[in-house]
Parts: sequence; structure tokens; C-alpha cells
Amino acid sequence: MKRYLLFAAVLTLVSIQLSAQSIPKPSCTTILSDAMFSGRDTVSGRGVADNYHTWEPGDELLVKFMPGGSTILRDRVIMYAKEWEKYGNIKLKFVADTTKQTDIRVRLGKGAGHNSAVGTEAKFRSQNMQTMNFDTLFFADIDYYLLKLKKRGVNPPYNINQLATEMNTDPNHWNDREMRRVVTHEFGHSLGLLHEQSFPGAVKWKKTDSVYNYYKETQGWDRARVDFNVFDVADQFFTNGTTYDPKSIMHYSIEPWQTLDGYSLKSSTELSLGDKSLIAALYPKNTAAATMVVPKVMVSNFTKLNVVSDTIRKGLVITPSFDLKTNPKLGEVYFVARLATEDGKYIKTDALYYNWGGTTATYKKMNLLPNSKVSYNKGKKNLELFMPFEYIPDTYGKKIIVVFAVYLDDVANNQMDKLMYFSTTTALSLPR
Ligand SMILES: [Zn+2]
Repeated sequence: MKRYLLFAAVLTLVSIQLSAQSIPKPSCTTILSDAMFSGRDTVSGRGVADNYHTWEPGDELLVKFMPGGSTILRDRVIMYAKEWEKYGNIKLKFVADTTKQTDIRVRLGKGAGHNSAVGTEAKFRSQNMQTMNFDTLFFADIDYYLLKLKKRGVNPPYNINQLATEMNTDPNHWNDREMRRVVTHEFGHSLGLLHEQSFPGAVKWKKTDSVYNYYKETQGWDRARVDFNVFDVADQFFTNGTTYDPKSIMHYSIEPWQTLDGYSLKSSTELSLGDKSLIAALYPKNTAAATMVVPKVMVSNFTKLNVVSDTIRKGLVITPSFDLKTNPKLGEVYFVARLATEDGKYIKTDALYYNWGGTTATYKKMNLLPNSKVSYNKGKKNLELFMPFEYIPDTYGKKIIVVFAVYLDDVANNQMDKLMYFSTTTALSLPR
């Protein structure tokens, strides 16, 4: 089992040269793609939504902007995001920047690419971090700015820094089509949708060096990231009875040289009929009409991950504080605390005990009933994970991080190791 730590999705835009005809667009990444990921499942026929991380039908999600972005730009984001509301039973409520607890946090800025957490994975992010990035450089009306440069006698090739400078001196000339495409796409992720090109069997990718190099150069992705973002996701999620939809807003553009059969596609700039019916299936007005209900675990109000070195009991006492809710389906839930080094690498073990997939860890399988609600370590102490010092490999003089996660096994659908929550401590010193 391969497990990674959760790291921020940062897209590097390397020395891109601009021309009016071919503007390199950053492909969107999901924070999921940077999260740890486990093995493949074996159920056939799904691909476009992550049902384990959708919100509950009827939820009103609180959305705020992180500092930055003009009112003009923010208003457009709100307008395009809210298109989803017309078709699914889910609300996006945009609240003041000062709001302390929100579900989705949007950053409008330059240079971070376009990306978003998938559905409730936004909960893995702390309240002071955005869950969605929009790269405003790529919202610019590039033709307008290039014309300005040309009129001033500046000769091509133009680069991204020149564009940024022009935008600073003469702001608010935007490309509305592009903005609409990107905003509805990213908000699609925030509601649990995945990339449509991942639909099982839809695209016959050419997995050649030239395809890998293309994403390396345009997006700065290594091979593993290309596998995840472009080729791989298909086998892991549900299609909810929908068919492959090349018009989906969630589809990347595809160039003919990237596919075995020359298949190509220009990305869509508005919601397709398929997008509308999928969001209606995931967030039905009548919950009994839900097409595919899978077990879910909702963690909220995670206030503390307390770790104490207990020299009398000779181990680490780990007490996370949070609220938990389950939905009508029964799944198997595990609370896991893994140990990592200060630089974020899991501490390996081959011990028989205190071993979670080869990592030094302590865990508990919880017996949770459907539709239950529990508070852990709020007021009374009712959950403790204990990690004996003798099972911690030699970390003398080093600091460690404790990584707490909630996993779900959906045994009925043979879908295992769904990451439902994730939180880490800062570096801690162990006693000698
Ligand atoms: Zn995307």
C-alpha cells in the first residue's frame, strides 16, 4: 500500500511565452492528486464523481474569498459558481472575508494555477488556507494586453511577466469565456466532480515520453503526477449511471497526438446536459432519489490533535478532538495516527504490531452505526490512540510529526481506504 502525505498543490508556470493564438492554459489540478492515495479498486463502471467526498444534499456551503481579487473579479466568480445551484440541491453562500469557519475558501492571485479540493476534502485544509486557487493571469483578456504592448512598439515574443506588468497598470480587462470555463470547472470539483476524461475507457491515451514531457513543460508535473491527473483516476470513482460526456465542463482539452486513435477535444466553456444531470443525481431534491448512496463519514469542528509523551506509560498519548457524523450506509471506519519525520516522510516499520501499511502507527477500528453522531474528546475524554515508545524506530535527537487520518472501507462496494479526514501536528520532540 502506497501512502503519501498531503502537500499543497502548487503549479509552477515556467517561462511561458505568450502569443495571441496559442495561450498556454494551466491544466487544473485537484488537491486530491497531491493527497496520499491508496491502491486501485476493482468495481467496474464509474469515473466522474467521488461519491465518498460529496456534501450532503441540501447543504448550504459557506464560501469566502481569501485576501485579494477586485470586486469586479469576485462578482464574476460568484456568478459563474452559482450556475451549479440551478441544477443540484446544494447552495453556495458567499460570506464576508472575516467569517471564521467556512467550507470553501477561494484565492484569486497570480502564479498558483487553477486548482481545487474535491468536495469534502476541503475539510483537510485549515481555516487559514484556501481550498481553491484561481490564477488571475489566465483570466486576462490577453489579446487586449498584447495589442497594448504592440502599440507601444514592444516586439514579440512576449512573456508572462510583461502581461502581469500590463495588468497592474491597466487592470480589469478580463476574458469572460475563459473565466466562466475555469470557475464552473473548479466549483465542479468543489462539489465532488472529477475530470471527465477519466471516464473508464473514454480516452485511449498515448503514454509516451512526448505526452509526459508536454505536461512537464506546460504544467511542471512529474510522471507520477501526470499518471494521476491525466491517466489514472478512472478506476476509482462512480459514474452514477451517466455516460461519457465529451461536452462536460470537467473535461480537459485533448490534442490528437496525445491519443492512440487521434481522438481530440476542445474543452467546453459551459455546463453540459451531462453535467447538469450528474449534479442533480448527486444532490437530488428528494434524497430518496439518490442514484448511488455510499457510506460516508463527515468530520467537523476538528479543534485539536493533542500529543503527550507519557513517561510512566512509556508512550505517546494521542487525543484528537472532533465531531463525526455517518450517513445511512454502513462502512468500516478506522482512526489512524502515523508517525512521520520532521520533513514529512513516514517512519517505516516491519514490526508485527503498530504497523499501518509499513508505517509506524497506532490505530483503532471504530464500530459506528449508520446515521450516528459522536463528539470525541469534547468535554469528556472518550478517544485515545496510544503509541508505545518501544515501537518507535530510533528517532533519537530528531523531531517527529503525528499524522492523524480517518479512513473508510466500503466493503459492500469493495472500495477500500477512502481518506475521509487528515490532520497533522507540528514537529514534536520525543523524550530520550
Ligand atoms: Zn480540474
